[in-house]
Amino acid sequence: MSSCDWPGRLVATVFLQGCPWQCVYCHNPDLIDPRAPGVMAWSEVVDFLRRRRGLLDGVVFTGGEPLRSAGLPQAIADVRDLGFAVGLHTGGSYPRRLEALLEPVRLVDWVGLDIKALPEDYADVVGRPGSGERAWRSLEVVLASGVEHEVRTTVHPGSPAAAHLPEIAERLRAAGVRSFAVQQARALGTRAGFTASAPGWEAEVEALADGARSLGFDRFALRRAS
Ligand code: SF4
Repeated sequence: MSSCDWPGRLVATVFLQGCPWQCVYCHNPDLIDPRAPGVMAWSEVVDFLRRRRGLLDGVVFTGGEPLRSAGLPQAIADVRDLGFAVGLHTGGSYPRRLEALLEPVRLVDWVGLDIKALPEDYADVVGRPGSGERAWRSLEVVLASGVEHEVRTTVHPGSPAAAHLPEIAERLRAAGVRSFAVQQARALGTRAGFTASAPGWEAEVEALADGARSLGFDRFALRRAS
């Protein structure tokens, strides 16, 4: 249950196993391996949701990377049949699968899309070549569809996202992004060796957020690590 996974909505959040990327700051690394067994059968999730009709606004699919799961379209259909709105968190690694959920029939009501870096820096962040093109193509898909959205960029000390946040934010604003959030990476849950703090980092994050906020997005949020 969450009141922040889809800002403004009270939702149940469903975590799907599997992700093609390996972000240095991933705080759900146990969800990356697609072969790892899940902890809850989908039929149990549906039963849980059936008992909460009228109590929740919607369901958010997250991960991992939910678009990696072949069963996602059917799961979305099941959730819609129960009367819930549907939100989707994605890193943008599967732009064609994302498009299929938005066009020609919109099956997802809100998308939270991570834009992790400028396209040329992506491989350094997620460890996969070609990832930047996929993520920025997913941004085009979201904006072309007109779906409600939030684009999120996570920063940590010394990261490409921190180094280039002004340019990332300007490109997002110019592309037509209406809602943007800067997220400060947390150490909690990450692999050994990841550093989420540094001298002067808190003030640097504040300054980066102030610059992004000044661009005039309809909605802007700074999500601090603590
Ligand atoms: S895309 Fe998300 S789930 Fe996948 S490795 Fe990166 S942070 Fe983790």
